[in-house]
Amino acid sequence: MSRKVLIAGNWKMNGLLEDGAALAKEVATEVKKLGKPECEFLVCPPFTLLTTVKKVLRGSKVALGAQDCHVAEKGAHTGDISPVMLKDCGCSYVIVGHSERRADHKESNELICRKAEAAHQAGLKAIICIGETEAERDAGKTIEVCTKQIMGSVPQNATAANTVIAYEPVWAIGTGKTPTTADVEEVHAAVRKVLAKKLGKGNANKMRILYGGSMKPANAAALLALPDVDGGLIGGASLKAADFMAIAASVNKK
Ligand code: PEP
Repeated sequence: MSRKVLIAGNWKMNGLLEDGAALAKEVATEVKKLGKPECEFLVCPPFTLLTTVKKVLRGSKVALGAQDCHVAEKGAHTGDISPVMLKDCGCSYVIVGHSERRADHKESNELICRKAEAAHQAGLKAIICIGETEAERDAGKTIEVCTKQIMGSVPQNATAANTVIAYEPVWAIGTGKTPTTADVEEVHAAVRKVLAKKLGKGNANKMRILYGGSMKPANAAALLALPDVDGGLIGGASLKAADFMAIAASVNKK
């Protein structure tokens, strides 16, 4: 089953206009040099940079995504951004259910599911994040936790065309720690099984499952070579174009 590898950068709450535009330009320039890249590229800047970055990326093979969205199309939701607005400013993807939002904003699986549905409705692809905490891993509950998150936060009508899953162990995000490649493959294979149960085998086999959590040039080749790893959701290392591109360069042919 061939799934096109997705190399996605999550810039989180980083970047002012000038450096955000410069980073996007560097990525676009490097991707252009690849001609026909083996993988898809995506950057997800903060809301304040979306329009600027969109202009910089015009005509490039780098897609634009946001880091969250509201469930409603519009209305009285001060401080929130709707998926329709994201589509309007050039996004094709939105991340939902990142562990930092689950923790900082107490987002539930049910809310994340509604956000993914709203994203689909607006014509956006949803990147739905799942992953266990360190305590959950130590208690041997990784698969159980990820299963519950998939069952609760992936919409019933999700397809490989409108949804990407990102497995991000919470304890690996921004810490420099990563699971062993055997552990990553075990979780990704289990995630695909749960997706098959929920969405059917056809969808599950086509759906991309990204790994996220301290992915960097030094460990990317080993992670991206795993059979059920279909790309990376990259935080810290996506803030340096050279590191982001070095990760992409380690994509093996699947
Ligand atoms: C992330 O925020 O999705 C992430 C994986 O961060 P980092 O690569 O910095 O661990």
